[in-house]
Amino acid sequence: MIQRIAVIGGGPAGLTFARVLHRHGHSVTILERDSAPDARPPGGTLDLHEGMGQIALEKAGLLAEFQALSRPEGQAMRILDADGTVLRDWKPRPGEQANPEIDRGQLRDLLLGPLDVQWGRGVTEVVPRTRDGVLVHFADGRQETFDLVVGADGAWSRVRPAVSSVTPHYTGITMVETSLDDVDTRHPDIARLIGDGSMAVYGVNRNLVAQRNSGGHVKVHARFRAPLDWHTNLDRHLGLNRRAGMDAGLDAGLDLADVEAVRSSLLALFDGWAAPVLDLLRHGTAFVHRPLYVLPVPHTWAHVPGVTLLGDAAHLMSPLGVGANLAMLEGAELAETVAAAPDPGDLDKAVRAFEEQMWARAGRWAKITMAGLERLVSSDPTQAIALFDEVQPS
Ligand SMILES: Cc1cc2nc3c(=O)[nH]c(=O)nc-3n(C[C@H](O)[C@H](O)[C@H](O)COP(=O)(O)OP(=O)(O)OC[C@H]3O[C@@H](n4cnc5c(N)ncnc54)[C@H](O)[C@@H]3O)c2cc1C
Repeated sequence: MIQRIAVIGGGPAGLTFARVLHRHGHSVTILERDSAPDARPPGGTLDLHEGMGQIALEKAGLLAEFQALSRPEGQAMRILDADGTVLRDWKPRPGEQANPEIDRGQLRDLLLGPLDVQWGRGVTEVVPRTRDGVLVHFADGRQETFDLVVGADGAWSRVRPAVSSVTPHYTGITMVETSLDDVDTRHPDIARLIGDGSMAVYGVNRNLVAQRNSGGHVKVHARFRAPLDWHTNLDRHLGLNRRAGMDAGLDAGLDLADVEAVRSSLLALFDGWAAPVLDLLRHGTAFVHRPLYVLPVPHTWAHVPGVTLLGDAAHLMSPLGVGANLAMLEGAELAETVAAAPDPGDLDKAVRAFEEQMWARAGRWAKITMAGLERLVSSDPTQAIALFDEVQPS
């Protein structure tokens, strides 16, 4: 068993890797850029699939705790037409455990458990093949050497350049996220509109999706096709003056930090949609701009001894409910691989085999999710409903 293992990043991939290794009695240094677990909002809710994320939790010995925390009712899905007509109203059967939802913050705390994370340790560069092992440089100027460095540091990984020269590219689809609190008491009509899980409305090259988190919190995502610099000229890039019947008021740049300006632009983008649907935007608090990036498919690299990648760092893909599941499954599998390797020579062979398996599976999912995203944000909105009917159990 090699001695010095570091995982860079304390997201779903890194924490699952560390937790499963911990269960096997091995220690790992967890290096996370955030200064504390609550340094930034943890993000929305994740559905963990029976055949992926839940397998990882089982390997970590955490499945029963997950089942106690998660929300099976959150699997419910409603699809509305832009005029508010309900097109689909799917509810899970009692006891259905295929894809229950859990808040990211709850999942992080569950995985953290006894783990000792080094917070505030942003990595800037990883240099493989030095005389003493793999050298890790930190933002504060310090450096440390390890035998195995696992890059689980997400989309903009600083570990990735040690094995691959690729960088994520923009999909042509942007997302703006807002949220509402305490919907059951403050916005009961919106609470009814969303139901127990998610609600989506699909239009031409745009959609609005609202998803319930625990405690009456709702995340809303407006997704639309647009160039990356769409906010620099709303009329030219989104045709908003014409759409909202306005006189050249939207041809100036939009300040993405101006909450009311973003709200008005989104209301113009979804102009004509049913009032209860637009209430999701009217009552949203802050707006966060999240252009969707992906890595090329497949993303593989010539194996570099002592360094590997997991999760989004290895295969950033369209957000269609798979990325965290794969990240966790890979974390658990790599941990088992490491725990089973009797010496460093075997470990390197085992990591190489793990990478081959990860590339093949992630490549399949990256293609599926990209095709799915194309249909969800399509010039033909019936494609989105057809996709739902294909994947949803009846
Ligand atoms: C809106 C949205 C909804 C989604 N919904 C789902 C879903 O329902 N189900 C699903 O499976 N997937 C979902 N995904 C995808 C999922 O969020 C990601 O695939 C998943 O978070 C990847 O996990 P990760 O651990 O690889 O990376 P991340 O979650 O990005 O974690 C990386 C960690 O590394 C840290 N870090 C980054 N850089 C450094 C550095 N230089 N040094 C040290 N630490 C660093 C970060 O702070 C972070 O803690 C969704 C994505 C989006 C955008």
